[in-house]
Amino acid sequence: LIQLYMPLNFLGVLYREIRQSLTDIERLFRLLDEHREIQDAPDARPLERGPCTVRFEHVGFHYESRRQILSDVDFEIPAGNTLAVVGHSGSGKSTLARLLFRFYDVQQGCIRINGHPLKQLTQASLRAAIGIVPQDTVLFNDTIFYNIQYGRPTATRGEVIAAAHSAHLHGFIERLPDGYDTRVGERGLKLSGGEKQRVAIARALLKNPPILIFDEATSALDSKTEKAIQAELEAAAVGRTTLVIAHRLSTVMNADRILVLDGGHVVEQGRHRDLLERNGAYAQMWALQQQEAEVESITA
Ligand code: ATP
Repeated sequence: LIQLYMPLNFLGVLYREIRQSLTDIERLFRLLDEHREIQDAPDARPLERGPCTVRFEHVGFHYESRRQILSDVDFEIPAGNTLAVVGHSGSGKSTLARLLFRFYDVQQGCIRINGHPLKQLTQASLRAAIGIVPQDTVLFNDTIFYNIQYGRPTATRGEVIAAAHSAHLHGFIERLPDGYDTRVGERGLKLSGGEKQRVAIARALLKNPPILIFDEATSALDSKTEKAIQAELEAAAVGRTTLVIAHRLSTVMNADRILVLDGGHVVEQGRHRDLLERNGAYAQMWALQQQEAEVESITA
C-alpha cells in the first residue's frame, strides 16, 4: 500500500507546487491526467476555436474558508485586448490567473469565456486555448530545440525556428556550440532569466493560443533585457486576449486596461494616463516606483 500511496502522494504535492507557480503546466497535465481535483461536468462542451472574450463577473474566492482572497472582482478583457493587473504582493494577482486556468473553482460569481461559464467547458479545450509565460520557466534536460518545440510537439523544425526568431532567441541559439541541438537545463547549458522567458514566449507562440497569460518575472532582469522582453511580449500579444500579472509598473503603460488590486478588491481600473490623472492608488504606486528607479540609477 505504501508503494502505491507514495507516488500518488508525490503527484499530489507536485500538482500543488505547479498550480501555485504556474510553471510547466502542460507537462503536469500530461502526467496527472488521473489526478485532477477538478473534474469536467458531464455535459461540458469544448470551447469553440477563435478569439476569446474573458469576463470575471463579481468573482469571490478563498483558498481556505477563513480567509477571503478576492471579493467582487468584476472586469472584462475584450477579445484581442491586454489587461494588466497590478497591486501589492499578496493582493491576489496570480490568483486571477490560477482561476482563469481553472486550477480552482470560484465560490462567488462566475468566470466566462465568450459567455460560457468555465464550469461548462472541457478542461482540455480551456487549457488548449491558454498559453502561459510563467515567471520562471522550467527547462528540460534536453536540447534547446526540444525545449521550444514543447509548446506544440507536432511543430516542424521550420516552425520552431520561426518561433525562436519571433522571440529573439535565434541569434543566441546560432552562437551556441551545437546550435539548436545544444543541451540545456540542469545538466546542460544554464540559461539566464531573460533567455528562459524567451523560451517560454517561443513556446507560447508555437502553441498559438487565443488567450495569453504573462506572469512577469519578479527576479531582477537588467533593464535592457526587461525592455526587450516587454517588446517581444507585446508582439506576441497582438491579436490575443492577454492578462499580464505585472510586478513592475513600467511594463503596463501600453495595456488597454489596468486593474489595480488591493487586498483582493479592485480599487481602480483604467488606462495608464487616466489612472495617473485620478491621483489615487495607481498614481501613488507609480510615484513610488519612479523614486525607487531614481535611487537605483544613482547607486548603480
Ligand atoms: P505576488 O505579487 O507576491 O506574486 P499576488 O498578488 O500574485 O502576490 P497571490 O499569489 O494571488 O498574490 O496570493 C494572494 C493571497 O492568497 C496571498 O495572501 C497568499 O498568501 C494567498 N495564497 C496564495 N496561494 C495560496 C494557497 N495555495 N493556499 C492558501 N493561500 C494562498
